[in-house]
Amino acid sequence: MKSVRYHGDGVVSLDETPVPQIGPRDVLVAPTAIGVCGTDTHIIDGEFMSNPPMALGHEIAGRIVEIGRDVVAVGVGDLITVEPHLYCGTCFNCQTGSIHMCPTRRAQGVHLDGGMQEYLAIPDTLAYRVPDGVTDWEAALTEPVACCVHGLDRLNAKSGMPLAVFGAGPIGAILVALAKLQGLGPVVVVEPRESRRELALRFGADLALDPGADDFDERMRAVTAGVGFPYLIDAAGHPAVLESAIGFASRGANILLLGVAPPHAVASVRPNEIYAKELTLLGTALNPYTHRRAANLLPRLGLERLHRGEYALDDFEAALVAQREGSFDKVFLCPQQDARPANGEETR
Ligand SMILES: [Zn+2]
Ligand SMILES: [Zn+2]
Repeated sequence: MKSVRYHGDGVVSLDETPVPQIGPRDVLVAPTAIGVCGTDTHIIDGEFMSNPPMALGHEIAGRIVEIGRDVVAVGVGDLITVEPHLYCGTCFNCQTGSIHMCPTRRAQGVHLDGGMQEYLAIPDTLAYRVPDGVTDWEAALTEPVACCVHGLDRLNAKSGMPLAVFGAGPIGAILVALAKLQGLGPVVVVEPRESRRELALRFGADLALDPGADDFDERMRAVTAGVGFPYLIDAAGHPAVLESAIGFASRGANILLLGVAPPHAVASVRPNEIYAKELTLLGTALNPYTHRRAANLLPRLGLERLHRGEYALDDFEAALVAQREGSFDKVFLCPQQDARPANGEETR
């Protein structure tokens, strides 16, 4: 079978590998849509710890084509999304309810074979059926949606309150959709790229501002009549965003750090401002126990508003370039499809 594999040192290739064998509690999945995300290119660039050689792809949807003899929860033909994490179950964090903090957790597409291949074997506990009517590419977005659901749980925002989201890639757009479902508003998005501001507005943002504009500060402060935002999310992972978020925070605000900053990036903050405004800074990582909730939310997020680029496995290099260049709102690899033009196919 075909498998897009990362070999370390920036090397990715389309290899021929054997179809994996399954055990009694495993399922064999034929991946149909795999989200390509910043984590994939960070892995290739050596900025995200991985365990090569392995097949890339952690945002996985597919059809079950074979089940082990003891599998009962899912069946052949089911469209499923993969919760791409295995936890050790024996460490302090696993045994006290914080599985995602497991120091030896392993993830499909990062440490283990992921979805960018024609077949993938996983334990049945990682295979989640999606609601009727959900498409395969929507199902592939369950993992990023689940990370956003966990983040919003951490933010613990009250309905009827304003929210500022910094960064409007696909994650920012999903956060806007989820925040609107929670009754937050106005939801203001801060994003330098015009195409991404448009994406945020399509997803229901009440206002999308360019942080480089001359009147940016003034317009941000006008939203809350100078009070500041009670809830702010960094969905960009840039140290300047944290600095900016603290400045626009109201007294008593919660600030969520969801974007992945480079490991050695340093922000400059004034501890006195955190003290005096009684701010809460919250980290959020991964998707502990939110994959099912995210799958349930898929039909209500309006994900068809994402302009998608879809590529066959043979065109994985073009897909990675499209991800890096932001050619589409979201790029997908479709492992069961024949080769497509190298510029992908946009679907609206
Ligand atoms: Zn991802
Ligand atoms: Zn553990």
